[in-house]
Amino acid sequence: MEKKTFVIAIDGHSSCGKSTLARQLAEKLDIVYVDSGAMYRALTWYAQQHRCFDEKDTLNRQKLIQTLPDINIDFIKKNNEHHTMLNNQDVSGLIRSMEISKLVSEVSAVPKVRQKMVKLQRKMAQNKSLVMDGRDIGTVVFPDADLKIFLTAKEQIRAKRRFKELREQGIKTDFEAVLENIKKRDRIDSTREVSPLKKAGDACVIDNSELTPEEQLAKALQLVKKKCHEN
Ligand code: C5P
Repeated sequence: MEKKTFVIAIDGHSSCGKSTLARQLAEKLDIVYVDSGAMYRALTWYAQQHRCFDEKDTLNRQKLIQTLPDINIDFIKKNNEHHTMLNNQDVSGLIRSMEISKLVSEVSAVPKVRQKMVKLQRKMAQNKSLVMDGRDIGTVVFPDADLKIFLTAKEQIRAKRRFKELREQGIKTDFEAVLENIKKRDRIDSTREVSPLKKAGDACVIDNSELTPEEQLAKALQLVKKKCHEN
């Protein structure tokens, strides 16, 4: 008999703590965690290395599309940390820079890029329980997910958290640049033609502006419990 799997989709705005929540849930429920944003970031890094952007950071879409067949992205867990592997190279440390944050939304708005990523993401979920976070997980990748969470928080709060995180990682930047990047990514992600960021009709909203990570996790676990009883 086939084992019943459980899929949790978490979507939401930039830097609102989706990956923190997804990681916590994966740990608690002992299921796989997939950071779909890391996949778009990894591809953006590859595109940058392969000169798909000109000196003004304009994306050459054709050139990018030509690289797609060469791309494979995967995740491995080492010492309890999740690592993003691009063609077997660990790119985890290379994809969080402001440089990549500035370019990633242009790359992820390309329809052929999305087709490729959705295919990889669905393959990762085959016969597995998992939690995946991103922008189109509950709307496009797993429209039949068992639980959909739409996470959000006030813009200023998200920028403060992201700024602190970057500083802790030793990445130099200023607060205004972080805030601008968040606003710009949200704008591009929400208005693109293919798979724009939007709340799925059946998603549960959590606004974590005033919540600690522990409180946020408790709320999400309540939702999991409720869904398990319903199914
Ligand atoms: O989640 P994170 O902020 O790392 O994602 C980086 C970017 O990747 C987003 O701003 C968005 O442009 C893109 N993305 C996407 N669809 C997803 C996940 C991320 O378009 N499912």
